[in-house]
Amino acid sequence: MANKVVVIGEMRDGEFRNVSFEAIAAAKQIAPDGEIVGALLGSGVKDRADQLFHYGASRVVVVDHDKLKNYTPEGYTQAAMALVDQEEPDAVIMGHTSLGRDLSAKLAARMEAGLVSDAVGIEMDGEDPVFTRPIYSGKAFEKVKSKDGVVFATIRPNNIPAQEADTSKSGSVETVDVAIADLQTIIKDVVKNTATGVDLSEASVIVAGGRGLKSEENFKMLDELADLLGGAVGASRGACDAEYCDYALQIGQTGKVVTPDLYIAVGLSGAIQHVAGMSNSKVIVALNKDPEAEIFQMADYGIVGDLFDTLPKLIEEFKKV
Ligand code: FAD
Repeated sequence: MANKVVVIGEMRDGEFRNVSFEAIAAAKQIAPDGEIVGALLGSGVKDRADQLFHYGASRVVVVDHDKLKNYTPEGYTQAAMALVDQEEPDAVIMGHTSLGRDLSAKLAARMEAGLVSDAVGIEMDGEDPVFTRPIYSGKAFEKVKSKDGVVFATIRPNNIPAQEADTSKSGSVETVDVAIADLQTIIKDVVKNTATGVDLSEASVIVAGGRGLKSEENFKMLDELADLLGGAVGASRGACDAEYCDYALQIGQTGKVVTPDLYIAVGLSGAIQHVAGMSNSKVIVALNKDPEAEIFQMADYGIVGDLFDTLPKLIEEFKKV
């Protein structure tokens, strides 16, 4: 059984990404009686860090540095290495986000440690955590155990439920002073391009469109449905290649991996590379005019029909709710 697990939390626009709290729940599975150290790297983040206590961290440590205002591999790697060196944990967990994917790989390589990425479940084999992760574009799952030493792991958002927040839990946030060398990369500006403002990776509802939408203008119909459902818009690569939307929306093998409660696929065929990014969605609804479209093989609910007829009707119905 692990004695100490460090969870590296992640913030966006001053708010924790939910996967940070899910990572604490994962850490608790690995070290139910051990110490869960919630860690936060950033600039001006110290005041927000105590939220990690609410979700089960037993200690909270922060590296607060102006060179960590935006994520850069070099700055964050230096800060996280110092933190891990200080804490000497048995495991380090973070979200399987763009940041977590990048940082975990760098840390594991630098520390010559094991890395398990994109875990969707954890069970214990005696003292050792065994991680379940999808392989072959989600067609199979493997169980992975790391050899001795610290193990780094990223967990896929929306798979390991976070515990309920308990705001009565608090503690003092510790600060780790780290000297960060001058960065080679300076982020001057961050431009956001999600239409609904809901983060695609963590959205509980996703409305995804494909080449069947036929134009950038038509693609905007998805924004309205996503808005009504409090969800985010995603896309197939076909839609991105056709310039109906930005590549930031692409879901699939070479795009984002998502696990929403509801995935509505509109005018996309369900190619294996797309399915790799969404097959673990809890409920899948497909709208396609071709009854033979592959997406119907995995859909829980299917609508065979012309999207230009059906989508406006769906939008009207949801407006009534
Ligand atoms: P299409 O396959 O052209 O499907 C359009 C669908 O719309 C059809 O099923 C059609 O019946 C339906 N349709 C058309 N008109 C209407 C209408 N009026 N009403 C209702 N339905 C309609 N793809 C990804 O999505 N993500 C990836 O990450 C990805 N990575 C890839 C990596 C590699 C190495 C390769 C080779 C390919 C990758 N692809 C990826 C591309 C993938 O193979 C498909 O080409 C792509 O997903 C197809 O996009 P689509 O479903 O929008 O288009």
